[in-house]
Amino acid sequence: MVNSTVSEASLLYANTDFTKLNWLETQWAAWYLWIGNPILATGLASFLLHEVVYFGRAIPWIIIDATPYFRKWKLQPTKIPTAADQWACTKQVLFSHFTVELPVIWLFHPMAEFFGMATWQVPFPHWTAIVPQIMFFFVFEDAYHYFAHQALHWGPLYKHIHKIHHQYPAPFGLAAEYAHPAEVFILGTGTIFGPILYCMFRRDLHIFTVYLWIVLRLFQAIDSHSGYDFPWSLQHILPFWSGAEHHDFHHMAFVNNFSTSFRWLDRFFGTDSKYREYRARLKAAKASGMTPEEYAKMELRLSEEAEREGVAAEKIAENLSFKTGFTFGAPKTKVQ
Ligand SMILES: [Zn+2]
Ligand SMILES: [Zn+2]
Repeated sequence: MVNSTVSEASLLYANTDFTKLNWLETQWAAWYLWIGNPILATGLASFLLHEVVYFGRAIPWIIIDATPYFRKWKLQPTKIPTAADQWACTKQVLFSHFTVELPVIWLFHPMAEFFGMATWQVPFPHWTAIVPQIMFFFVFEDAYHYFAHQALHWGPLYKHIHKIHHQYPAPFGLAAEYAHPAEVFILGTGTIFGPILYCMFRRDLHIFTVYLWIVLRLFQAIDSHSGYDFPWSLQHILPFWSGAEHHDFHHMAFVNNFSTSFRWLDRFFGTDSKYREYRARLKAAKASGMTPEEYAKMELRLSEEAEREGVAAEKIAENLSFKTGFTFGAPKTKVQ
């Protein structure tokens, strides 16, 4: 007769040959054995992973913001977040994490089990199974986000939900999840629903793969809000990768660039026309042989112009209601 949950957990591994496991797999099993309750073990691991990676990845960006040397790669060089901005942002992010993500994460184990996802099981899948799964999650999330994000720009949803995320026209790493709890839930669904959908049809997914995906997705989200475009940034290696250079424009200009990871949907649907025009003007300015000072002035003038138009577009979006209808992306009409 099994009385304690610890004994129940050790029963999970009754048929496991520990001599065949690698170091990480042994630690994984040790974690489940130590916590004793798989629901608690998965819930705690998921929450801790998210917090450690989110804040851990944001710290280098805080240091970069505080180091003038890096200013030459800042996309909006005159807009450096203050310590007060970073702190206000941290508080809002923690509030969202504890109100929305904590319960969702704690329901994750029962949900995972329901769809047949492996959790406590070891060994992990082979990397040849992991890589295509993660690629599918990236593509799925990007498409989901593209449409859900545009829906959040529609009047009533914008005014009551997405406006918070747009508080910073020049974002910084910590601002990635600076959003209304409803937005964290709506857009977070794109991250979680890909694995669930995959699991429903294929039934061969391990939560370890989902964790790897979540870590990569957090890096993508935080880095795209960093406000920096370095010569070694991923978008210079993979031209279809969005990165900060793409998403920073969305915050600055309010319109265009609704995707997360890739540029192809914005290109396909033409929701990057303003962004491309902006880049083309800067490129032409650079090619015209201006001095660096003249170029900096030109860049500032263009970005101020884009931001001014963005403020007007935001007002139009806020004035849109159920009566005036639904417009995908940037409203085309002028404020009366
Ligand atoms: Zn937006
Ligand atoms: Zn953003």
